[in-house]
Amino acid sequence: MKLVRNRHTGRFVLMNNIRDERRSDFSRECSEECPFCPGRKEMIEYCRYEEVIDGKWVVRSIDNKYPALICDEERHNSGEIDYGKHEVMIETPNHFKSFFKFDEEEFKYILKMYKSRFIDLENEKMARSVIIYKNHLKSAGASKLHSHSQILSMSFIPPELEREIEMARKGVFTREVNIILESENFISFIPMDSYLSGEIMIKNKKNSRFNTISMDEIEELSVVLKDIFKKIFNVYGEIPFNVYLHSLPEEVDLEDYRWHLHIVPRKGRFGGFEFGTGLYINSLDIKKMYEKFMIEE
Ligand SMILES: [Zn+2]
Ligand SMILES: [Zn+2]
Repeated sequence: MKLVRNRHTGRFVLMNNIRDERRSDFSRECSEECPFCPGRKEMIEYCRYEEVIDGKWVVRSIDNKYPALICDEERHNSGEIDYGKHEVMIETPNHFKSFFKFDEEEFKYILKMYKSRFIDLENEKMARSVIIYKNHLKSAGASKLHSHSQILSMSFIPPELEREIEMARKGVFTREVNIILESENFISFIPMDSYLSGEIMIKNKKNSRFNTISMDEIEELSVVLKDIFKKIFNVYGEIPFNVYLHSLPEEVDLEDYRWHLHIVPRKGRFGGFEFGTGLYINSLDIKKMYEKFMIEE
């Protein structure tokens, strides 16, 4: 569980030998085996957050059984490993429901959980950065069908975030074109220069850190997410996708950075071209895609 730099390519890689044991579960018929479904008593001791309505949980965050990083201060201090906390945030008790079907209320519970876990993980003294991410369906990297996101704190700033910070320091930001939705605090758009086909960004207009999100903004973003995913469903159907949230680390002072979400519908797969060149091909006619998004259903 250590960040190392490959001597041949200069790229960073997180070495981790426990995640290979993960088991896939994409059962659409029976949820007996699903560890995220209600009634899994053994989960309670690992539960870090829960929202309970009428005696039943609606969202909960549990320790990741196969963490990317672990909380071992001693081994971290000796330089043996990098430190981090990794949780799985279960977004619904319903095995079959997903971002494509959640209503505003459900997104609100999810975002409240995101905020609460983000603040807790970021406040740990070893944490230098925190990322929230989501994989929906197998070809987007998910190992379970049951809707969930993950949150990971890290004792380092990962390369992707480092690069964004570097660009922001130079005053370079993605142009907010092809705007799909705009409200008081959020702007959602399809960038023209995404390195991943079909990417949608949802950007907060005022703040650089996600931990500042207010209850009003949570309610606003719940509506935005519901509407965006409805549009994605209308354009692609139930497509695998990834979501990840970037927020400026506490140690970085950069007034113009804005926390944001990336949503990446996963149409293509990666292969030799991407490995060999370090490039992704954005094969989308972005203007055409934008028009599809703007068709009122
Ligand atoms: Zn389940
Ligand atoms: Zn970003």
